Amino acid sequence: MLPAKEAESIILSLVQPFDQQLDAQLVDLSAATGRILASSVTSQWDFPHWDNSAMDGYAVRYADVKSCNAQQPAVLQIIEEISAGIEPQCRIQPGQASRIFTGACMPKGADTVVMQERTRREENRVFILEAPKQQAFVRHRASFYKAGEPLLQSGITLNAPEIAVLAAAGCTHLPVYRRPRVAILSTGNELVTPDQPLQPGQIVDSNQYALAAFVTLSGGVPVPLGIVRDEPEELKSAIAQSLSSADIVLSTGGVSVGDYDYVDRILAELGAQIHIRSVAVKPGKPLTVATFSPLSQEVQGGSNRSVLYFGLPGNPVSALVSCWRFVQPALSKLSGLPQEGWRPVFVKVRSHHDLHSDGRRETYLWGQLRLDATGSYEFHLAGGSHSSGNLINLAQTTGLAVVPVGQTLISAGEPVQVLQVSSPLGS
Ligand code: AMP
Ligand code: MG
Repeated sequence: MLPAKEAESIILSLVQPFDQQLDAQLVDLSAATGRILASSVTSQWDFPHWDNSAMDGYAVRYADVKSCNAQQPAVLQIIEEISAGIEPQCRIQPGQASRIFTGACMPKGADTVVMQERTRREENRVFILEAPKQQAFVRHRASFYKAGEPLLQSGITLNAPEIAVLAAAGCTHLPVYRRPRVAILSTGNELVTPDQPLQPGQIVDSNQYALAAFVTLSGGVPVPLGIVRDEPEELKSAIAQSLSSADIVLSTGGVSVGDYDYVDRILAELGAQIHIRSVAVKPGKPLTVATFSPLSQEVQGGSNRSVLYFGLPGNPVSALVSCWRFVQPALSKLSGLPQEGWRPVFVKVRSHHDLHSDGRRETYLWGQLRLDATGSYEFHLAGGSHSSGNLINLAQTTGLAVVPVGQTLISAGEPVQVLQVSSPLGS
């Protein structure tokens, strides 16, 4: 049994990230939310595009106003009114000013803006009542960004701020990485779809839905392949088929040591290289991680990347915990995210409850990260049984508290590492 950290590094070492050319596609800006940039983007525009005013006031020559004050105001002739979106027509000469509004272009000849609160107006004359600083309230062309420099780096996830930048820069079509395709197979003779009546002994294949939701929320495209009986031949052909349609395959069930647990044997028969068989975590000990090299795949989708196979435990709690802990980093690395985006995020917070473990394996207890009265996050353990067979109290989970190997108790009030598991769409 591998320690969790070791399993994580093996898994990450097996993932070859998407290629900037082969795995990129052009999308419209309006469809780019949540996608990952596949190359860096530049703009041919400076930001700001031209010198403009940061205030409502008057555009002046600093030389005309540098020594004025309320007792001896500078008196300037107003020659033009410049609102946002208008191109100034007049050059400011000594003794002149233009009325100007926020965002409007600076007129030629002016180098400073005086805010209107520091002025008094009489018809077409303005009295400047206080000397401004030179160049005050002027936003200079290219002071935020110079045309041609990198604007956004490859690997950035496009959320609202990045979309704003791209729109402002006039980038309407963008190269983004395609979304990883993740095939999902549920193994088990006892499984039925949720719309079927339950016969004695049967259970609903909730994993199919849970894993599809997990994949979607992680920025992937789920390829649901349904339920497969615990029949070696059926399983073999289902797994072989899954390889042709996916970058990653997630199967659940059939990876422990029961009489009907065929997955590992079939993977070997199909030519997979098996890297991990079990990990010292609870829940989720049986975890098979394998790769199919391009040559061993029966059908190749034109790519020469290995397909990564996760044989997850069938238990719905174990399956999801394994996804959060081990599949998520692999999916993130494959997707084209930069290295700091791959690693699972552990936060150190105080535990609100006592956390128990048998100390033999790294134990994950599910619950919520909640704000306490002082504004700090603390971990609240989900009420009810923490048996891996209990799916019900997994609802509303936002964090998994980690009790390390060798430790049997983290007392309420003590610090604990918590794996964040709520995944905003596409991040
Ligand atoms: P297994 O890993 O195949 O031994 O399954 C472990 C437990 O998880 C058993 O109680 C199964 O009935 C249950 N299980 C397996 N697959 C699923 C699934 N797709 N959805 C819900 N429960 C499952
Ligand atoms: Mg089974």
